[in-house]
Amino acid sequence: MNKQEILGILGAASRDPLGYARAWKEKTGRPVIGSFPMNFPGELAHAAGTLPMILQESDDAITLGHGLLFPFYCGYTRSMVDQAARQEFRVLDAIMFGDHCVQLLGAADAIRMQLTDTRVIFFQLISSMNDPWTLGRARESFETLKTELEEFLGKPIDAAALHASIKLYNRNRQLIRALYDMRKAGTVRLSATEMQYIVKSSMIMDKAEHTALLEDLMAWVKAHPEPKGTGVRLHLSGHFCQAPKPEVLEMIESCGTVIVGDDLYHGFRYISTDVAESGDPIDRLAEWYLARNTGVPCPTRVQNNVDWDAFLLKAMREEQADGMIVLMAKFCEPHMYYYPEVKEAFERANMPHLLIETEHEAMPIEALKTRVETFVEIIKRREAA
Ligand code: SF4
Repeated sequence: MNKQEILGILGAASRDPLGYARAWKEKTGRPVIGSFPMNFPGELAHAAGTLPMILQESDDAITLGHGLLFPFYCGYTRSMVDQAARQEFRVLDAIMFGDHCVQLLGAADAIRMQLTDTRVIFFQLISSMNDPWTLGRARESFETLKTELEEFLGKPIDAAALHASIKLYNRNRQLIRALYDMRKAGTVRLSATEMQYIVKSSMIMDKAEHTALLEDLMAWVKAHPEPKGTGVRLHLSGHFCQAPKPEVLEMIESCGTVIVGDDLYHGFRYISTDVAESGDPIDRLAEWYLARNTGVPCPTRVQNNVDWDAFLLKAMREEQADGMIVLMAKFCEPHMYYYPEVKEAFERANMPHLLIETEHEAMPIEALKTRVETFVEIIKRREAA
């Protein structure tokens, strides 16, 4: 298969995650376990022989969900509740919720009320990341999660299976990180939407099937070098639980930019960190949980010895990015709280950035395009000066 054929398969799964899950379940007869972003260790559910999938915001307009959640909740949580109210999640055998922000907790309760026949497993994750007890508490959470999964599925998750799942997930992450490196170096051309399809489909598809497609993609792009993309080099930042709309990404690229890096959840954040492959797998998963926040700091976690803004400036230097576009989902409190620090740090470093607030509902793409074009012009003039 060539690059476009592989991206076509990944794009189809990204656009219809529940359709993919239904087809997988019909083919394998095995359970599908949905999870909320952003810290669920899919390896645990994979080792139990299920399809773990991260539940995705739907493109559909919110209808029944309107009456169940405040309108000032983020688009992701409102869409989750709406999908539950419309019984879209019937394919799921269980849903796992990790505690990561107030709105997510509200959505979890509303979903629980809608899906009375679906097992809902809730796990509490410590959000204070560098206290003396953090690692132990993270370990306890993952151990409890494993026990609950075993009880739900009626069989133990053995260490050998978990080690194999960790290895497979690592390989998957490594391949995507290699594509990131190649995009940064200009040896592969992947648009922001194509990169999103690659990462988002990894959250949805059977990991072995997805990894095999990535191996093919890697072989193809190495054998078919493409000319380096030209334009203002940009880093995309933010957007946690839901994927930015492809039309927004395409609009940004249509303004003469090339995306060379990101820390989006449907991007580098999701694949930034591997799990160590030796020793006790639950210990290693707990360490991974902590290491992820050092690798790519997250505003939903609290850690006083890492800074998201410092991470962004360093990443942009490595990417030789000329500027950054911050994509902020409307009403995302953790992002809104943290953004002023990023803004201050970028102003101090004289690094151009532009904030775009995104919405679940239709967005004024043409008006946004004018802002991005102006931003690109400012960068060009600064560089010329
Ligand atoms: S972190 Fe932001 S996007 Fe995610 S559920 Fe919370 S408010 Fe919504």
